[in-house]
Amino acid sequence: MIQGTTKTLGLLGNPIQHTLSPLIHNQLSELMGYDEIYVPFEVPQGELQQAVEGAFSLQILGLNVTVPYKQEVMEYLAAVDPIAKDIGAVNTLVRIPDGYKGYNTDVLGLQRQLREDGISLEGREVIVLGAGGASKAVVYLCYLEKASKVYLLNRTLEKAKRLADTINELVGEILVVPGVLDEYKTLPNRNYIVFQATSIGLPGTKDQAAIMEPEFYEKVQVGIDLIYNPARTMFMQLVEHSGGRAYNGLKMLLYQGICAYEFWNQCTVSDDLAKKVYQKLEASLYPKEQNIVLTGFMGAGKTRIGRELAAQLSFEFIDTDAYIETKEGMTISNIFATKGESYFRALEVQVLHELAKKKGVIISTGGGMPLQTKNAAMLKECGRVIYLQASAETIYQRLKGDTSRPLLQTENPREAISQLLAEREKAYSFVADIAVTVDKKTVEQITKEILTGNETEER
Ligand code: NAP
Repeated sequence: MIQGTTKTLGLLGNPIQHTLSPLIHNQLSELMGYDEIYVPFEVPQGELQQAVEGAFSLQILGLNVTVPYKQEVMEYLAAVDPIAKDIGAVNTLVRIPDGYKGYNTDVLGLQRQLREDGISLEGREVIVLGAGGASKAVVYLCYLEKASKVYLLNRTLEKAKRLADTINELVGEILVVPGVLDEYKTLPNRNYIVFQATSIGLPGTKDQAAIMEPEFYEKVQVGIDLIYNPARTMFMQLVEHSGGRAYNGLKMLLYQGICAYEFWNQCTVSDDLAKKVYQKLEASLYPKEQNIVLTGFMGAGKTRIGRELAAQLSFEFIDTDAYIETKEGMTISNIFATKGESYFRALEVQVLHELAKKKGVIISTGGGMPLQTKNAAMLKECGRVIYLQASAETIYQRLKGDTSRPLLQTENPREAISQLLAEREKAYSFVADIAVTVDKKTVEQITKEILTGNETEER
């Protein structure tokens, strides 16, 4: 509730209609119990100085600054933090006695994302794609975190050269090597950490990546796309397809906001609160992805993990086989026996169409469902698809005493599982947004991995 004591935070930029900052900061104030409100202010061109001075007179506690004012605002500040000065861009204003002090929390936000995701740049060779505003923060972080070399590849060579010169001058040696995008071909085959900082992959170009050639992705061990919408960009898909790990930029966005909030309030936002805000951001950005679809072989744990996820998220749990049985009033084996397999497969498609309209559900699918080509696209329509990847041995150990599974009633069930799993593996991987290995992990570990995106250690 806004009252006489409520302090104001805000954003200066133009345009500001699509900003997610109010969601981050107002949520933080609510969770921290602070009497504050965050408001976006659209500042007309040529009026930035009045806006900054006016905000100070109005006792505004702190501000974010976005496009196109991140450089210009530096002229109107009482002080600028060394990192922001080095980068030449400010995105956060903190109130001090004689005006505002400028900081750059993009660098700090990305640094915090990397820490959380267990990615260290120290001694590593890094490729940065793009040499625009965001790339400055990435390259500077590579310097701060002691990367051994940075290959800065950009469509326009001049811009890459300019940014490389700025950072190299600062470092006093050649840390950043500029080049055009195609120059990845001249780099030796190594496990690079790659930052995607171009605007290719945003909604208007979501089927594209700045580099599309699979040869490039063979060099990528970890790929971090700064884009956070869509949740899984083409760049990320290409990284994962060639066996690398991929992350989007949503945590960077979250943490640049949290770092600003901590500066304004001189507080520490706990990991728990950060996670809550992250979930809100995800829910608002990717409404479809609120649903989770679990696929995988029988015995992979779809039901147990699905129920645990549903409990944690307060979602409804739906098992597609049970759903079909209720709908038809008979068991799956009876449907097969009386109406045939093609009838059952058509039912599966129908059920997926129904479930795609639901929100806030965890869907556990029948083991054969992803094998139908037309189901693959429908599964994605239903939500974020997770492949619970179990080895043949794990499945065998879990199911060996189970007499209800026709598949296991053979002379050599271990062999039967191995064979069928090998046949299905490709379809499961193809349909999945991510694969999570379940061998030697507890249900709690697996659900945590699905919800946070962080891999856990085996038991
Ligand atoms: P920017 O200053 O406009 O830079 C855009 C970059 O994309 C430039 O390097 C540009 O190359 C390159 N580019 C544009 N069109 C291209 C094309 N057709 N082919 C190849 N390269 C192309 O933008 P920015 O502020 O750096 O933002 C870059 C991305 O980072 C955006 O997608 C933004 O959403 C994201 N971002 C995320 C966060 C976060 O918190 N996660 C923060 C900031 C930015 P040229 O130099 O040749 O034009």
